[in-house]
Amino acid sequence: MSVLRTVLGDVPAENSGLMLSHEHLLYGYPGAELDPRAALDYDAALDFVSGQVAKGKENYGYGTIVDMTPPEVGRYPQFMADVSKRTGMNVIAITGFFPERMGIPYYWRRQTREELTEFFVGDLTDGMVFAWHKTPYRAGAIKIATGQESVTPMPSPVGPNGRHIHEIEDRVIRAAAHAATQVGCAINTHIDPMDFEVTNPLREQLEILLEEGMDPGKVILGHAFVPPQLDAMREVLKMGANVQLDHVGIPWRVGSAEELDEAMANALVVLLEEGYGDRIVMSFDRWFMNPRAGVTEDDPQLLNEKVDLSYMFTSWVPRLKGKGVTDEHLQKIMVDNPRRIFSIDV
Ligand SMILES: [Zn+2]
Repeated sequence: MSVLRTVLGDVPAENSGLMLSHEHLLYGYPGAELDPRAALDYDAALDFVSGQVAKGKENYGYGTIVDMTPPEVGRYPQFMADVSKRTGMNVIAITGFFPERMGIPYYWRRQTREELTEFFVGDLTDGMVFAWHKTPYRAGAIKIATGQESVTPMPSPVGPNGRHIHEIEDRVIRAAAHAATQVGCAINTHIDPMDFEVTNPLREQLEILLEEGMDPGKVILGHAFVPPQLDAMREVLKMGANVQLDHVGIPWRVGSAEELDEAMANALVVLLEEGYGDRIVMSFDRWFMNPRAGVTEDDPQLLNEKVDLSYMFTSWVPRLKGKGVTDEHLQKIMVDNPRRIFSIDV
């Protein structure tokens, strides 16, 4: 049977509804969970996040959110489970790590490829740990990430094997390929757009995954439209992988939402015309809640307001339709493709 592995258990893949392939219910940079000023009022946080999720489900038909928050970035399994229980939204948690420059705590940097694989498989098949405590909640996909960080964006230096990928990231990516192959789950990735200045980071990530035997059809390469990198995307699409259009309505490293949306929409139309409609997924990359947003973290990227879930249907989809994108295309991009890629055969 084909299932989505949500925090509340496996559900038939056909129950996915519209899927958002890269979001964050609760988010704080590594260390935020140690900050008394960021301490959560759990019930208030649950109300705040569940309110947004419930509105998205009831008003727009979103059925599944992939929470791409890695363990060292405040991943909170109980919180995801409570949001899911409260709203009926399927929530898929991930295992994996942030880029080495921002994440992968020292403890994990010391571990071998085999040990990292064992960690990922445990999260996916047995249950995730939160602050020393084992939870019954399982992850349903893996995140890998490469690149620098946002304070002083710059291209990544050359690492092992001549790629612009750090040594530990390389090991994490290899471990992820083994774990995903063992479990049959998807890998969704984060790249830093600055790396397009020196290489095609999508291809570099995919090459390492393929070297370890990963099925490219279960790989989503993220942030490829920020701004759109058509040639880089064509390269990995030809290798059998999928790409993700994210940051809908959220300007990241570019002028404005209007500017980015227009560029992304035009690029999407080109890829659809070239026949890649079965290999694209779409998401916001919103942060439903960041406890320090606007306080110590005043980067507009981090603000809770960002863009509302309604934006997909009030602004983005009308923009796409104006360019000739059909309901059939949208059904593939928002339902069929993510459902197929994130499903696990059990
Ligand atoms: Zn993200």
